[in-house]
Amino acid sequence: MTIEQQLKQALLDRHEAHLYRQRKVLLSAQNSRVQVNAQHYLNFASNDYLGLANHPDVITAFTEAAARYGVGSGASHMVIGHHEQHHLLEQELAEFTGRERALLFANGYAANLACLNVLLGQGDLVAEDKLNHASLLDGGLSSGAKFRRYLHCDLNSLEKMLTPKANRKIVVTDGVFSMDGDLASLREISQICQQHNAWLMVDDAHGFGVLGATGAGLCEAENLSANDVPVLMGTLGKAFGTYGAFVAGSETLIETLIQFARPYIYSTALPPAVAAATRQSLKIIREGTGLRNHLAELIRVFREKMQKTNLELLTSHTAIQPIIIGNQETTLKVAQWLQEQGVLVGAIRPPTVPAGTARLRVTLTASHSLEDIDSLVNLLIDANERFVDSSAR
Ligand SMILES: *Cc1c(COP(=O)(O)O)cnc(C)c1O
Repeated sequence: MTIEQQLKQALLDRHEAHLYRQRKVLLSAQNSRVQVNAQHYLNFASNDYLGLANHPDVITAFTEAAARYGVGSGASHMVIGHHEQHHLLEQELAEFTGRERALLFANGYAANLACLNVLLGQGDLVAEDKLNHASLLDGGLSSGAKFRRYLHCDLNSLEKMLTPKANRKIVVTDGVFSMDGDLASLREISQICQQHNAWLMVDDAHGFGVLGATGAGLCEAENLSANDVPVLMGTLGKAFGTYGAFVAGSETLIETLIQFARPYIYSTALPPAVAAATRQSLKIIREGTGLRNHLAELIRVFREKMQKTNLELLTSHTAIQPIIIGNQETTLKVAQWLQEQGVLVGAIRPPTVPAGTARLRVTLTASHSLEDIDSLVNLLIDANERFVDSSAR
């Protein structure tokens, strides 16, 4: 077979397994209501947890900065692309997370690859939660270290993985698991790390901005310092509503990344206006609990209403509220039917999640209202009666 034919066959196979993915083309801003083609939808699929992607003050910060500094950053940070807006944002992120320093990255995928490839090599060992984000798994796999996956949130399984001899040992976990919405037991994991002389790296993509008293994330909520979690990674494209990511930690860690992280060194800096907009998001997050409180109320009400249905909701107290359907074909059918009724939810299938656990990934955001939750739950009940019988699980 030619290369073209081989590719065609792989695409066909994916179609037949109900795993084919298709993009929707958005015509509106990212919001609780979105427009796709000529249709308007109630949107329960975005990670814009605080509704900041379309916040007027963030938009103003962005446009004012673009008017002053232009659009493109023009170069990598090491050459001439490192702008004062990046520099100030890094200082503010360090202060916000209670770390000595922070370093901006183009996105979370690059930040995770960079950290794991710089910190690990041959002779080292990395232990990762089985349900870690793909970028963490890819980073661990490509690092050259011995790569171990422990059972999801299972501390005994983690301890077993840490017994082999190794030069450096690093344990890596999502803070909030992106497809399940549950939390890693960071305090216990950090204690295990200390007993084994290992570093802990936490990816707080879904906790940063929403968890903790001031929104500084799961480490703030659990009161974990840089001693407990030496490598803290967070993203800016989710609750912060902009784009990019950062790593926060000691002066030594950050200088090491600046000197040795290839995805950092060989990539163009984020536009300075994106950094300026992110500084505004940070200001909004630090200054008030209004958005976080509203989101918490929506989560509570959604769970309360869902508990009265036969749908299988995972135990999650975050904005990520997955409903397990099991079968991927049924999951797709339900999501398509919901879309016909004007509601968008993510249909998450393998390989993103383990086989047999295909799910609807409902995400709630501060731009939703209590009425939106009512509409969603009523449609979910209807969908459940139409498509999900016991044989489909
Ligand atoms: C989204 C996400 C990333 C990737 O971040 P991007 O900035 O979108 O590249 C990394 N880790 C987790 C857990 C995520 O959810």
